Amino acid sequence: MIAQDKAVAIQYTVKDETGTQVDTSEGRGPLWYLHGHSNIIPGLEKALEGLQEGDDFSAEVPAEEAYGEHREELVQRVPMEAFQGVEKVEIGMVFNAQTDGGPLQVAVTDVEEDTVVVDGNHPLAGKALAFNGKIETVRDASSEELEHGHVHEGDNAH
Ligand SMILES: [Zn+2]
Repeated sequence: MIAQDKAVAIQYTVKDETGTQVDTSEGRGPLWYLHGHSNIIPGLEKALEGLQEGDDFSAEVPAEEAYGEHREELVQRVPMEAFQGVEKVEIGMVFNAQTDGGPLQVAVTDVEEDTVVVDGNHPLAGKALAFNGKIETVRDASSEELEHGHVHEGDNAH
């Protein structure tokens, strides 16, 4: 049963409020996470608590329990000169920006003549998410996994 300190593998598909699929584990294997260690969004972790290996699940997660509300202060207008070395700035491009709060990934959401609008919110911020999936594996975590706070499976065995 899924509980604190269990290593869990899930297969899932997630859609936003408009029914658009935003992510899926299909085609790349299950998502492994360590239950109770904030490896996944809080609303999904809560919904999976108590489920068993082989169970199907569905969970409606409000924005505040997913990637948080969309924060206006993370949307900024930046002069085009800040993009020196970029041949053509286009909507959808992602840059690593240095901010007072540390490095932040920002996406270009609008391009005007001399100004670029960038958004540092997570692409799924402000969105309620609907998950559907299946619990593939539930096992005890190793002491090393608990120490690291994540599951050692696949590419994450460090
Ligand atoms: Zn590790």
